[in-house]
Amino acid sequence: MQTNFTPEQLADPHVAESEAILRKCVHCGFCTATCPTYVTLGNELDSPRGRIYLIKDMLENGRPADAEVVTHIDRCLSCLACTTTCPSGVDYMHLIDHARVHVENTYKRPLMDRLTRNVLAAVLPYPGRFRMALRLADLGRPFKGLFRRIPALKAFAAMLDLAPRRIPAQSPFAKPGLHPPQAERRGRVAILTGCAQPVLDPEINAATIRLLTRLGVEVVVPQGEVCCGSLVHHMGREEQALAAARTNVDVWIGEIEAGGLDAIIITASGCGTTIKDYGHMLRLDPSYAEKAVRVSALAKDITEYLASLDLPSHMPRGITVAYHSACSMQHGQKITMAPKLLLKAAGFTVRDPAEGHLCCGSAGTYNIMQPEISAELKARKVRNIEATRADVIATGNIGCITQIATGTGIPILHTVELLDWAYGGDMPAKLKGLQQAAA
Ligand code: SF4
Ligand code: SF4
Repeated sequence: MQTNFTPEQLADPHVAESEAILRKCVHCGFCTATCPTYVTLGNELDSPRGRIYLIKDMLENGRPADAEVVTHIDRCLSCLACTTTCPSGVDYMHLIDHARVHVENTYKRPLMDRLTRNVLAAVLPYPGRFRMALRLADLGRPFKGLFRRIPALKAFAAMLDLAPRRIPAQSPFAKPGLHPPQAERRGRVAILTGCAQPVLDPEINAATIRLLTRLGVEVVVPQGEVCCGSLVHHMGREEQALAAARTNVDVWIGEIEAGGLDAIIITASGCGTTIKDYGHMLRLDPSYAEKAVRVSALAKDITEYLASLDLPSHMPRGITVAYHSACSMQHGQKITMAPKLLLKAAGFTVRDPAEGHLCCGSAGTYNIMQPEISAELKARKVRNIEATRADVIATGNIGCITQIATGTGIPILHTVELLDWAYGGDMPAKLKGLQQAAA
């Protein structure tokens, strides 16, 4: 694609990067077929190609974002299906990241939109505040119907839909500390505790630590970790995201220097995509650029790391698992086979739901900010999963677990919870109904 940026504009490294990305696009439109918003809405401006044109026009003309551009950028899930499909290697992720920062810096959103975003950015990345907010959700539930009828309050109705009625107890595994190996030592890793995940489903990190230590891996839960920053990053709040990235880089570099690390284990693929991008996010900060590259190189999804441990194979256990590949797993991190191969080796029968490339509509805070599109995508995803007639759903991202669980009665777990069970752990509580099948 031809571009017309001035030398002055290109002196800004963010603009220069976006210009290089734009030039790679050849307008072929292959990406439209796999874009969930185009597939759902049928509007070219809600396709990757349409958004690329809108962003190009906005940046090239040095214009502040306007309501139309913001509408179509906000509807993008950042699912990155377009990057998997694009034959020209267009780096849409960094282009939309830049566009979101531009929107945040140049566009004044309507009052309720601003308020909702401020609440989400102030609550979700902080486990204590998030837990408190979930407790308060009980007070808001009676007003959910009312909120849904008032357009400005729809996001609050969506939050109440997603808030679980029972908040799990805090896990001792969430506390900073060292978990020694229980077999011959074969590695040392740090684990990202996370923000929303340990509140919504503390069993995920608990199962990870139990499994790894049983396999001979020492696991450290470092003191001082914070949210990876992806929630605010996708809102265009660059400074808040970079501050989170710097804090985590300091924590993990400290651990590398103190005891050495073979990997930084991440159990939410949305976080994994962002942490693997820290090297890029902090590339212009001379104090952090090199350290961030080291951290990104060590970041591993739990299934990536387990695949390197050469686990033994088990006999079939008579349980069929529908594997839902989170967008951040398959498109963001390009991890497609490891989770399924691990499940198969552990004795599960694995099925791939149709249209596996399409997002479930969770996408960070998307299911709160864009509840209608999100609901359509969820219904489509659930239809495809239920058609597999699986006993269980497995996936690698807490956002997908929360989203899909509100649409189906099939139990949905993190892949590592099934693997922990298969390799010597207790049966996950969510699967008690399957006890007979497993016997
Ligand atoms: S990131 Fe997803 S929703 Fe956004 S343009 Fe690409 S395919 Fe479409
Ligand atoms: S597939 Fe790639 S090159 Fe083709 S229109 Fe989409 S982004 Fe551009």
